[in-house]
Amino acid sequence: MLITHDTRCALDTVVDLVNTAPEDDTPDGLPDVAALEVFVRQHQVSEVGVLTEFDLAAVRKIRSRFAAVFAAPDARGAAGLINELIAAAGTTPRLTDHDGYDWHVHYFAPGASVADHLAADCGMALAFFVVAGEQERLRRCEAPDCRHAFVDLSRNRSRRYCDSRTCGNRLHVAAYRARRKEAAG
Ligand SMILES: [Zn+2]
Ligand SMILES: [Zn+2]
Repeated sequence: MLITHDTRCALDTVVDLVNTAPEDDTPDGLPDVAALEVFVRQHQVSEVGVLTEFDLAAVRKIRSRFAAVFAAPDARGAAGLINELIAAAGTTPRLTDHDGYDWHVHYFAPGASVADHLAADCGMALAFFVVAGEQERLRRCEAPDCRHAFVDLSRNRSRRYCDSRTCGNRLHVAAYRARRKEAAG
């Protein structure tokens, strides 16, 4: 399937967003508005104004909905979740060639909040995977104690870990578990 620059950016953004979610032993990666500002800048989310607590709460809400998409058991489950995300965000598809990029489509409505922006454009990026029959590429890492979301862009859909150098290294995983066990004492 064809993955354009903008789709690739949206995929990186949604994966990173889902992986900021707090887990048992890791704090929230978006603890405050300042952290959200850094996230938005790092992922070059365009046309975003001044961010507030309201934006933070809204982004955290769509984050958990995107997490559900990565955990969806099949295309129908993913499609239902993506439809809800996109419908709630409202969309205005339009062609743009901002910042020197080739022509591509933005889906978020002009003046959209950052949460609606992410829901619309990241939601559409994920929608293309369902359309292409590639929903199973939206995955969660199989390493114990990780479960990070990732998009498997390998040719034969064989990727099992979010990061082959760490999670993919079984020795590393085993050592990590042993350390945890020790720490839990
Ligand atoms: Zn763009
Ligand atoms: Zn992992």
